[in-house]
Order: sequence, then C-alpha cells, then structure tokens
Amino acid sequence: MRIIVVGSGFAGVEAVRKLEKLGLCERAECLWVTLAPKMVFLPLTPALAGQRYEPVDVEWSVESLAKRAGIELVDARVVAVENNRIRLEGGEVLGYDYLVLAAGARPAFYGVPGAEEHSITACSVSETWWLGRRIREGRISSIVIVGAGFVGVEMAAELLSLSKSLGLELDITLVDVNSEPLEVLGNRRASRIVRRVLEGLGARLVMGQPVVRVSAEGVVLRDGSKIPADAVVWAAGFRGPGIDAPGESLTRQGFFRVDRYLRVRGMDGKVYAAGDTMHFEHGGNISLKMAREAIRSASRAVENIAAKITGKEEKPYKPLITSRRPLAGVCLGPGEGVVILGKRLALRTGLINWVHEKLREKYSKLLGMQRAPYYRRPMNQEHGEKPWRKKSRWSPVLAEA
Ligand SMILES: Cc1cc2nc3c(=O)[nH]c(=O)nc-3n(C[C@H](O)[C@H](O)[C@H](O)COP(=O)(O)OP(=O)(O)OC[C@H]3O[C@@H](n4cnc5c(N)ncnc54)[C@H](O)[C@@H]3O)c2cc1C
Repeated sequence: MRIIVVGSGFAGVEAVRKLEKLGLCERAECLWVTLAPKMVFLPLTPALAGQRYEPVDVEWSVESLAKRAGIELVDARVVAVENNRIRLEGGEVLGYDYLVLAAGARPAFYGVPGAEEHSITACSVSETWWLGRRIREGRISSIVIVGAGFVGVEMAAELLSLSKSLGLELDITLVDVNSEPLEVLGNRRASRIVRRVLEGLGARLVMGQPVVRVSAEGVVLRDGSKIPADAVVWAAGFRGPGIDAPGESLTRQGFFRVDRYLRVRGMDGKVYAAGDTMHFEHGGNISLKMAREAIRSASRAVENIAAKITGKEEKPYKPLITSRRPLAGVCLGPGEGVVILGKRLALRTGLINWVHEKLREKYSKLLGMQRAPYYRRPMNQEHGEKPWRKKSRWSPVLAEA
C-alpha cells in the first residue's frame, strides 16, 4: 500500500506528522512529493520584507522531519492527478492507494497584462527579502500594492514601518477594487482600524478601482489614471496550485473541491485535499485559507485515511475559520496589529506579532532548524511561479540575490 502527500507547507507538514503519529509510515510505503523540500512560514513574509526576519528564520528544510517519520522525499512538481496515480513534471507517474493534496495556492493575476512579469508577490521569500533590502539601500522610494486584503495591508504596514525606522522617504499606494481594506472579511470595525493605522503610517489608499495594467513604470487604473512606482507588489488574491484533475474536481480558480470528509469530488474516494489547495464549502459557508485551517484539515484528512484502512468510519471536517465566522490576526508592523473575531469584533493589539513568533519558533524546532536547500532550485520556480520577469530591469539583481 502506498500513501502520497503532496506539498510541504503547513498542511503537508501536518499530514506527515499525523502519518508518523498514527504509525502509518510503518504499515505503508509513504512518499512526500514536494516542489523544493522546504517549508516556508508564509505569514511572516511581510515581516521579512520589513527586515524583521531573515530568510533563514522563515524557511526550513523538511528533510529531518521526513527522516524521522520514515517518509521518502521526492523533489518534484505534480502536474496532474488521475485515479490511482499522479503525474510529475517531466512525465513520470507515481501510483498511490491514498493521496493527500496539500499543494497550497499561487497568486492569481486575473489576466491583467504585465501583472505576472512586473510585480513582486508576498508568497516568495526571495522577492520579499529583496524588496526590503532595496528600500533599506534607498533604491526604492515608491511602491504600489495591488490588493488591500490581509496580505496587502500587512505588506504596506511593514514596508512603511521599515522606512520610518530608517528615516527614509517611502510612498506607498494601496489599490483595491473594494471600497475598504479587508472588506472581504466583512468586519467593518477591523477595516476602520486598518485604514487608521495605514493612513497614520502615511499610506495612500485608492479604493474602488481595479488595476488594468502593470508595467516596469507602475500601474494603470480602469479610469485611465497612472500611478508611477519603482516597484509593484501583487497581493490581489490566489488561485489553485496548477494541478490538473477531472473537471468536476476543480473550481474555476483551480482549487480542489472536497466533500465533508475532505475527499476530492469526482475522484475515487481515495484522494483527499487539505489547506489552501482545497475548496471546502458546506451550506454556503466556506473554509478560509489560513494556516490554522491548513493544519486542522490535513490532520483530519490523514485520520480519515487511517479510518478507511482500518475499516472505521470517517469523520466530517468542521472548519473553524469560515466566511461566516472569520478569525484572523493581522500584523501591521512591529508592535501593531488587529485581531478579528467574527464579523463584529475587532481588537487593536500588537500581541499578534508575539503569537506569530511563538508559532514560528515551534516550526523551527519541529523541523530541526535546518536551513532550506536554496541551491536545489532556481528561486524563480519557488511556489510554482513561472520564470520571473525575464526582461525586467530587476531580474539580474534577483538572480544574484
Ligand atoms: C503573505 C501571507 C501572509 C499570511 N498571513 C497569514 C496569517 O497571518 N495567519 C494565517 O493563519 N494565515 C496566513 N496566511 C495564509 C497561510 O500562510 C496559508 O493558509 C498556509 O500557508 C496554507 O498552508 P498550505 O500547506 O495549504 O499551503 P502552502 O503553505 O502554500 O504550501 C504549499 C506547498 O505545496 C508545494 N507545492 C505547490 N505546488 C506544488 C506542486 N504542483 N507539486 C508539488 N508541490 C507543490 C509548495 O512548494 C509548498 O511546499 C498568509 C499567507 C500569505 C501568502
């Protein structure tokens, strides 16, 4: 019997820990297929841009965990899932009896011309670190951030806090099609707090306007106005990991639709999805793409596999953080943040930074504080990105970073 886990983020790491805990790696051949055998602590990439952390603090090799759990690591990109087998980039296929898809999400560019080629994303350790370094060196003094969801507002606050601490001038414009920051979470109090903090730091908010073009010079809005910028950060949403599967298994954005037991719809009942890669919807309530949801869903997916193997009943997944009940902590620079508790309550507190740090320490220890293997893969292929900005003025700098 073979069990395969795909991805080594919060969900993949939790799935492997659970396989280890339930003794499944002794009963079955277990494989861990992931694009670069490392875990990136994504909630801290904005703080990395703010130069509060270094890359070694937020990404670790997963090799020591794999060794301890007795699972074999395969450094490869999965491009398709078929019944009973997965297809890797390069054409190889691997058969499975049970599969846990935990391949996360990628930035969504919605076909906006120039967006993918000319913007930096907060999912990339190298790009966010590079951005902070250039601000520090005084080589970037204006930035447009596209998207005022929690990634965009965290980036804005971190970068402005960095420039203030260095006594440097930095213009940041946040652009969003919605009328308030964090509007998608539906908590007006939180949106007000975030607006107040960002404007206090000197950010300009341009709301209700979609970006229709991105270039090396800045962005163009739908009304034709241009916002020039030295750099553009794209934080406008996510799409699935780019893994092909039978039609009904995938949403339009490429996420894996799962049933209440986390089994991917339209497959043979042996494929489970967890974390950002899944689309879990029950009675119109959607599980949000947060680290805690990734950990909990991966744990339940592996428990359900174990139940199936031993002939027990599978248990339904009950999401904690949903579109109806958003629970989130948003860091707004060092010592500042907001905790969102449902649609009405929001507390302004810097404590959220402390919570992130505790969780970071936990993962750092869990993964043996082992440095991520940078050398294995060119940085432009991190997180499934396409080769990055081939003709951009920045690519030579990134290549040597
Ligand atoms: C900037 C930012 C800030 C955030 N802040 C917070 C926060 O404050 N609190 C919070 O709870 N959540 C936050 N999140 C969301 C949180 O980080 C995600 O919910 C969490 O990382 C999801 O974990 P995951 O394991 O599903 O996916 P990921 O962590 O994205 O891991 C996906 C894994 O799959 C691998 N992979 C991808 N494609 C393939 C493929 N085709 N084949 C093989 N392997 C593949 C990747 O290399 C990676 O190892 C933030 C996200 C971002 C981007």
